[in-house]
Parts: sequence; C-alpha cells; structure tokens
Amino acid sequence: MRRKMAAGNWKMNGLRADLAEITALASATSTTACDVMICPPAPLIPAMLALEAGIMVGGQDCHAEQSGAHTGDVSATLLKDIGASAVIVGHSERRADHAETDAEVRAKAEAATSAGLIAIVCIGETEAERDAGDTLKVVETQLTGSLPDGTTAANTVVAYEPVWAIGTGKTAQSSDIVEVHAAMRALLRARFGAEVADGIRLLYGGSVKPGNAEEIFSLPDVDGGLVGGASLKAADFSAIVAAASR
Ligand code: PEP
Repeated sequence: MRRKMAAGNWKMNGLRADLAEITALASATSTTACDVMICPPAPLIPAMLALEAGIMVGGQDCHAEQSGAHTGDVSATLLKDIGASAVIVGHSERRADHAETDAEVRAKAEAATSAGLIAIVCIGETEAERDAGDTLKVVETQLTGSLPDGTTAANTVVAYEPVWAIGTGKTAQSSDIVEVHAAMRALLRARFGAEVADGIRLLYGGSVKPGNAEEIFSLPDVDGGLVGGASLKAADFSAIVAAASR
C-alpha cells in the first residue's frame, strides 16, 4: 500500500508574507492520510520549517556535488542540514532553462539520496514529442536515464509531468495517464524488481486543480500529485490534499 503524496512546487513564487498560506494550509489539513509537502524557493525553507506546521518542506533543485565552487547553487547536504525532507530534480523548467540532461538529473538524484533526502525525479514529454507519438519512448528514456541504481521506494518519488500540461490548464486524459503510469511501473519492475518498484510512488503533475484532483488521484498507479499553480493558495491546495487523502 503506497501512501499518497500531495507535493506543491512554488517555483520562483512566494515572499515571506506568503507563509501565511502555510499556516492556513496546516489548519485546513490537520487530519490527512497523505504526505503533504511544499517546495518553496530555497531561501524560504528555514522560515517555512520554523512554522512547525506539520508539512514536509522540500527544495526545488540541488547540485550534483555536496560542496565546492558552484556559485549560486545549493547542495543536497545543505538542504538536509536546514531540515528539508526532499528535493525536486529534473523538473522540465530546469531541463529547459538550464539544459539539464538525464545524466545530470541522475547525478542530482544520487546527491539527494546520499544526503538523506527524498529525490522527486520529474520526467515528461513535450507537446511535439506527444504529437509525434513518442510519449512512451521519451518516458522510458528519461526514466531509465534519470534514476540512479540505488533507487528505492523510501528514497525516490517519480513525477510524470507532461510538459505541455504544466501551467497551461491542459490536463492529460485519464486514459493517457493510466497508460504512462503503467508503463513506468513496468519499467521500474524490470529494473529494480517488483518489491522495490511496487513501493515507489508515481505522482502526476500538470494543471492539477481542486476540480480534477480526485479523478486523477483515483487512477491506478497514480499515488498523488506534484502541483504548481494550485499549491500557492491554501484554499486550492487543501482541496487537493483532501482528494489525495481519500
Ligand atoms: C509543476 O510545476 O510541476 C506543475 C505541475 O505546475 P502546474 O500544476 O501549475 O501545472
């Protein structure tokens, strides 16, 4: 039985004043049967943790090395040191904005898990790849290339996020989500064995909203969601958390 997860990605949004949303979220979600996480911009992590709101806090990226001459980057070791539980790696915006490759994402996932963080590894096809009928091929390449050999159910969560669905209001059809998640589960089984693979949580991401979360989270092999825009407001995200708790 996999525990569902509702993870919010604030991206480059949020100021200290927006921590009020976390306080509101905590009171709206005090009895949940799922893991609730927010990944704010890194400088907000300590203040978010200081609220002691009972919500897991994660980073949005980490460097593949644990320290060194990498100006502007954040290490997984530091994220762990300040109290983060997890870090997103390979988000499509980082793959696009910073030309991150599967090999780099894999190295970051390795750094995250070595530091004791959960790596939330993101994969997903672009609109052009989908239109060319290449979704499953892209998902297989990215999943294989981005996950380290040491992947376990405890240290890794996979997020399937079709790039064309992120921040666009377009959501993948349920039948497509089911097909991709089943393919991911099969790939994980082939590589890591059924026992490990069946414990790894597979999140869907891409315009998850209060109005569609329940349907998406009820699909087979969908273990919750990675949520961007709708995680910024407690009213929206608490409804998504409630859908993941059913
Ligand atoms: C995301 O940032 O991972 C995401 C899925 O964004 P949105 O929910 O806004 O589509």
